Amino acid sequence: MAKLSIRSVSKSYGALTVLDDVSVEVEEGSFVVLLGPSGCGKSTLLHAVAGLNPIDSGTIVIGDRNVTNLPARERDVAMVFQSYALYPTMTVAQNIAFPLKMRGLDRKMSDEKVAGVARLLQIEPLMSRLPRELSGGQRQRVAIGRALVRDPRLFLFDEPLSNLDAALRTELRAEIKRLHQSIRRTMVYVTHDQTEALTLADKIVVLKAGRIEQTGTPLSLYDDPDNAFVAGFIGTPR
Ligand code: ADP
Ligand code: MG
Repeated sequence: MAKLSIRSVSKSYGALTVLDDVSVEVEEGSFVVLLGPSGCGKSTLLHAVAGLNPIDSGTIVIGDRNVTNLPARERDVAMVFQSYALYPTMTVAQNIAFPLKMRGLDRKMSDEKVAGVARLLQIEPLMSRLPRELSGGQRQRVAIGRALVRDPRLFLFDEPLSNLDAALRTELRAEIKRLHQSIRRTMVYVTHDQTEALTLADKIVVLKAGRIEQTGTPLSLYDDPDNAFVAGFIGTPR
């Protein structure tokens, strides 16, 4: 059974159709990348899964629960955004612990979980710093830590690396891959960057103007694109 099923989801803003009958199956523990140019509807689709934005029609199933009409807090997903949105007056440790505090977890349990996340992301030396004392890459690691500590059944990433310079992007990309290989949680990752898609994905969904152009493994899209758009976007000459 798929961990996440997006079934025939459509959404319009007035006359603009942003998602047009989009269906995606995400297997348990897999890494799926939604790839497409700016404005094609990637964030809208991810927000629909997270429950941050209502859809006009279609169904979203996470695990065995139809979550289409559930509010975000009942969906058990964690999202990492492009901008890091850390609390500026809290230390790294307090930022990561915040979702646990909100859930009323006791201090000892919380400290243990935060320490585990810090170890996994190799940010132990940063724990008492404030966000303004961190580099962009370190901030994004903390944002990932804050998602991880909740131990959600589904991780959603919306262009998490696009504010970083090229060298940091490569480094954090490798780290996200390592993270997925070590925890094997279901992850859905949005990007317009072909290299990110090809290196991270088990499966890539190529979107254009709110419609799916092609779905497949990185290799199958690269070797056997269905059309000129996919070929051009993935970067193979035809
Ligand atoms: P992407 O993440 O792929 O860049 P988005 O999902 O953010 O694309 O946006 C898809 C389209 O929907 C764009 O044309 C965008 O301008 C439009 N859009 C997004 N949010 C709104 C909104 N709240 N109201 C009107 N149009 C929107
Ligand atoms: Mg977007």
